[in-house]
Amino acid sequence: MFTKSLGNRIRGTIASAFLGTPFAGAASADALYQNHRAELATPPPAPCAMSPTPEQAATYIDYVKNQAAPQDPPTPPYYVALAAHIVRASNGTGGLPLARYEQAVADANAHFAPSGIVFYTKGDIDYIDSDFYYDHVDTIAEIDDLRTQNLVANAINVYFTSGAFPYCGISAFTFSATQSILLNNACVATSGAYGNHSTFSHEIGHYFDLFHTHEPAFGLEYVSGTNCADAGDLICDTPADPSLTGVVDINCHYIGSAMDPQGAAYAPDPFQLMSYGPKYCRQEFSPQSVARVVQTLVTGRQSLLSSPVSVSTLDSERAGGVSLSTPWPNPASDLTEMSVSMPVAANVDVTVYDVRGARVRTIAHRLYEPGEHVVGWDGRDTSGALAAPGAYFARLTSGDVVQTRKIVRR
Ligand SMILES: [Zn+2]
Repeated sequence: MFTKSLGNRIRGTIASAFLGTPFAGAASADALYQNHRAELATPPPAPCAMSPTPEQAATYIDYVKNQAAPQDPPTPPYYVALAAHIVRASNGTGGLPLARYEQAVADANAHFAPSGIVFYTKGDIDYIDSDFYYDHVDTIAEIDDLRTQNLVANAINVYFTSGAFPYCGISAFTFSATQSILLNNACVATSGAYGNHSTFSHEIGHYFDLFHTHEPAFGLEYVSGTNCADAGDLICDTPADPSLTGVVDINCHYIGSAMDPQGAAYAPDPFQLMSYGPKYCRQEFSPQSVARVVQTLVTGRQSLLSSPVSVSTLDSERAGGVSLSTPWPNPASDLTEMSVSMPVAANVDVTVYDVRGARVRTIAHRLYEPGEHVVGWDGRDTSGALAAPGAYFARLTSGDVVQTRKIVRR
């Protein structure tokens, strides 16, 4: 099962990386490959420092096993507020460019679309102008000090700094002493064929109690899967993983030879966002990972659902009036249509994703004039094949506006 889907995705990756346009005017594939080899030899900041202590692991296992489903579960979409704190030098220069912050949020919305979560930025960006926080944060104590500045309630507080700290990011599990997320600007929405569009989503994954696919704190997961619910990442549809730093090639193929405790060769999935696969390979949460995210949101993170921003206010504020209607008919066995409402002319992309977050087909990608425009999906993917019955998501993006609508095919 994993081999097949891996193969399909690898072909897609090769096609887009080597036949597409990302290299236009840039370095040759050979130079990029050399860069990549250098990266493997001397990894950039350690991907992330998130691993439960033995005590936390024992407590968490008990907590999860005894967790009751909420009495009155909320229904998606789940609007989850981000409180963004961008650290700059004392004189107000530097700091993560806003466009890269917005790109990171758009990336996260694509990765989390199968969960029904829609991230939005609550209020204004908080700029923290401090040479110390911008350049000299290099211990856990200093990191924790920074990520408790100007906290916003009922939101995921995220701090972006250029930092001297040796991590791409640090996050918080529901049981962590210090909450909120810190990201190294060097790891946020960097561009290019080997750009990083995964660390932000990875850290948010931790925030919803997703563990690394190679997590050792609960015990080593066997390749056979027999202990998958109690070991590794506690999730059974991500294969056992020996930790992927330095053992994945440029095409996202695992090239390691490690054996699990039972002597079986690993066949890990470098595409999983919670793995240590190369940053540009990581692009999806497995279905059970998505289920864990939702379970954590409606239990240990339910305060995120109590943000006072109403959905209607949110839509009109964020979208400046740009909106994607509810699909009709829905469920659909043939064509389903939505209208895109444009108050002003703008570029719009509407793309259909499956529940794993894989792109099925782009149904609009163009400049729209003000007014109402109809977009339709005939249920076919880019190759013209009919998509299987089930749930899909149409996602509109226009500038920093992201709206997601569920489509059911029968
Ligand atoms: Zn991590």
